[in-house]
Amino acid sequence: MIHFVDLKVQYESIKEEVDYAMLEVIKETAFIKGKYVEKFENDFVEKYGVKHCISTANGTDAIYIVLKMLGIGSGDEVITTAHSWISTSETITQAGAKPVFVDTDEYYTINASKIEEKINSKTKAIIPVHLYGQACEMDKIMEIAKRYNLFVIEDCAQAHFAEYNGKKVGTFGIAATFSFYPGKNLGAYGDAGAIMTNEDDLAMKCRMYSNHGALKKHYHEIEGINSRLDGLQAAILSVKLKYIDEWNRKRLNNALIYNDLLSNIQQVRIPRIRKNSKHIFHVYSIQVERREELREFLHQNGIETQIHYPTMLPFMPAYKYLNLKYEDFPNAYHYQDKILSLPMYPELTESKILFIINKIKEFYFKKE
Ligand SMILES: *Cc1c(COP(=O)(O)O)cnc(C)c1O
Repeated sequence: MIHFVDLKVQYESIKEEVDYAMLEVIKETAFIKGKYVEKFENDFVEKYGVKHCISTANGTDAIYIVLKMLGIGSGDEVITTAHSWISTSETITQAGAKPVFVDTDEYYTINASKIEEKINSKTKAIIPVHLYGQACEMDKIMEIAKRYNLFVIEDCAQAHFAEYNGKKVGTFGIAATFSFYPGKNLGAYGDAGAIMTNEDDLAMKCRMYSNHGALKKHYHEIEGINSRLDGLQAAILSVKLKYIDEWNRKRLNNALIYNDLLSNIQQVRIPRIRKNSKHIFHVYSIQVERREELREFLHQNGIETQIHYPTMLPFMPAYKYLNLKYEDFPNAYHYQDKILSLPMYPELTESKILFIINKIKEFYFKKE
């Protein structure tokens, strides 16, 4: 059996450190916020090279909090990609604004040259998503944002430490949001998330809002929400942060093996890597012919696969009220029936990758 992700092998490799860290938190009953949360925030800030990290209960809240604290709400529009997890767009609605979708490019990220036509007087922000672990075309996006005076909030949930032109994703816009959902490249053992920014005032507001509108206990300057990181998750994340570069490197290496050996199969399109960028392959997704049949064949051979995502955001029932048309999102519409995500995690061995590739070849060459 080859799992899609295997969090058990990773746990085994750092078991001693993680178990020790968790016991410390319990012994000190540092459960909500407290010293381990502070430590993780500092560790993350230091490794990322930014000024502020505000931890949150999950990555979805992180986006919502930033939107709210930037003053985005009723009557505003926020531009984002058609191809993402629903957190990116549902938080725009939660803040009171309207999500405006843009089609994807051939790298599965927002098509930067299609952004401008969606901008109007209501537009306040752009949320580029560094999908699958690959940076969006950030120079173009930042240039447009500057020209129209829009905020850029980078959704880095799938791209911790990915880079564009030698600069880390999350350091281009006014703020960046992260998810540490267990399956993400940097994953906790439960829900967890963070906001990152260099802006002192925005950082202060986000910290306050995420903790019931109070910076100091019982001093509620505004009404906020309860979206805090807990000590156990923070302690685990501090341990795992030490390994993230190595894990990201292994993912990229695995992707390059896949790319090399799948490139000569006519029915398969391998993922493209943007020039001058560091892809960290949160997801390794190919485009294939006869996807459902291939998926079933791989399943029968003990290989788990997934689809990210089977329905692109504009076509979801949740957005039916926007009356969006397939023709307006030709790439996203095309991809949703072709994409297939193959097993990808740092500990995935070369022999397992070879087994998967051989099964894909067997499917197309022997069965056709
Ligand atoms: C996972 C994810 C989120 C949300 O993170 P949670 O921690 O699950 O709330 C947001 N955006 C994208 C693109 C994601 O993949």
